[in-house]
Amino acid sequence: MQHIENEDCYNGLTVNSGVAQPPSVNPYITHRRRKPMPTVGEIVEGILKGDVTMLSRAVTLVESLSADHQTLAQEVIEKCLPYSGNSRRIGITGVPGAGKSTSIDVFGLHVLKQGGKLAVLAIDPSSERTKGSILGDKTRMEKLATHPGAFIRPSPSAGSLGGVARKTRETIVLCEAAGYNNIFVETVGVGQSETAVHSMVDFFLLIQLAGTGDELQGIKRGIMEMADGIVINKADGDNIDRARLAQAQFKSALRLFPTPASGWTPEVLTYSGYYELGIPEVWDMIDRYFDFVKANGYFDTKRAQQARYWMFETINEQLHANFYNNPEIEKMLAEGETDVLANRRTSFAAARTVLDYYFANKR
Ligand code: GDP
Repeated sequence: MQHIENEDCYNGLTVNSGVAQPPSVNPYITHRRRKPMPTVGEIVEGILKGDVTMLSRAVTLVESLSADHQTLAQEVIEKCLPYSGNSRRIGITGVPGAGKSTSIDVFGLHVLKQGGKLAVLAIDPSSERTKGSILGDKTRMEKLATHPGAFIRPSPSAGSLGGVARKTRETIVLCEAAGYNNIFVETVGVGQSETAVHSMVDFFLLIQLAGTGDELQGIKRGIMEMADGIVINKADGDNIDRARLAQAQFKSALRLFPTPASGWTPEVLTYSGYYELGIPEVWDMIDRYFDFVKANGYFDTKRAQQARYWMFETINEQLHANFYNNPEIEKMLAEGETDVLANRRTSFAAARTVLDYYFANKR
């Protein structure tokens, strides 16, 4: 057909005819069948055999928002529980740029040389799958990413910290059942994410940097008390002296804290993740910690406390979600908020109305 702009009144330009479009990009695409969902028994069997594809599928179920997937995930976790627990769970934190990925890559290889398997998980409540997770990205841990004994999983996508943390905790169970005897859980100092990681690991490693001389100023309150070991990274080249100075500062700051419940006095070491200096020493410290807490019984006490904590956390999280995700409640909350702000009702009266409705109508 003649294009309108090829008519005589449009001088100087010719519009070429276009290329015919194919009927469909791939006419067979609609005929492709999705793989059927394996049964709970098949998933569990796969996990126990160490099948990484099955493990990944189970983790995806854990992370899914669909109620059906959640039911399946819970059944899988329940069946895996008897096979879990047999690992060293190590939390690793540090501000962005502290060298977590570089360090996890070398720590990970060091651990894997001693045999066994390693899972690297992450808690990053700020991450969103679609924008690419900050943590746990395989490209950040190049050596581990291609190691057959390593399983790297990014942080579950953004949600409430409680929800993200619960999913990671459940993923630990699955990984342990699949034979991963070393679990690293990485986090950045966002919100309360360190507290969440601390509540699911046996050893908590804080990666620090030397440099400005006021390292202790910038450190978040409460984090030093949580650390079982503080390691100062980038102790290489011109930075060695500054790293040693920071080490001395951290050591003296730690003396001000009471001895932790574990009875273990946190140690401060320097190392270089990039140049791979001091890695066996850091690992030796972690080995000594495990020997120490296993001998004095704290290892079991802490795991029991954590199990109890997670029971209550899960209840709190589910109650919270059940309440706030109810559309009628959402409407009532908006109305209540308007009334309270306009001084038409007191906060307590408004809260009472919503709660009364919730308790009268809860399933
Ligand atoms: P993350 O954000 O905590 O995961 O930090 P990265 O591992 O991505 O490291 C941040 C930057 O510091 C990168 O450019 C690394 O190459 C660099 N880096 C990491 N470890 C060291 C180290 O031991 N020495 C030196 N000089 N640089 C390092």
